[in-house]
Amino acid sequence: MDSIKPKVSYLHGMMDGLSIDENSKEGKVLKEIVKVLGDIADKLDEIESNQDNLEMYIDTLDDDLQDVEEDFYGFEEADEFNGEDEFVEHQCQQCGETIYIDKSIIENDEHIKCPNCNFDMLGEGNDERVND
Ligand SMILES: [Zn+2]
Repeated sequence: MDSIKPKVSYLHGMMDGLSIDENSKEGKVLKEIVKVLGDIADKLDEIESNQDNLEMYIDTLDDDLQDVEEDFYGFEEADEFNGEDEFVEHQCQQCGETIYIDKSIIENDEHIKCPNCNFDMLGEGNDERVND
């Protein structure tokens, strides 16, 4: 995401450049809006950097978890666990969207909705078209 800070700075400059009277009613409102925008931009930067940290943390956790999985299941099984074989292609009967469904979801008879049209893809009346 592009930082909106430069855009807020630009607005600041524009307020100065247009010599808007900051003591007029409109000027006061505009000044306050630009100030709030600046606060939002600061907050967004903060959230963004927090999120970066979280993502790094999750990556680290993920790596650690994978190590544990490999130790626990043995390398090959852990590898298979992450394989594409666990997913089957399913085509929505309503809109034709193709999605990939985890086999365990199908085996457990869980319902899954089409992300495109919300059609219940594994619902009743569906013949289970499973490409293996
Ligand atoms: Zn659909």
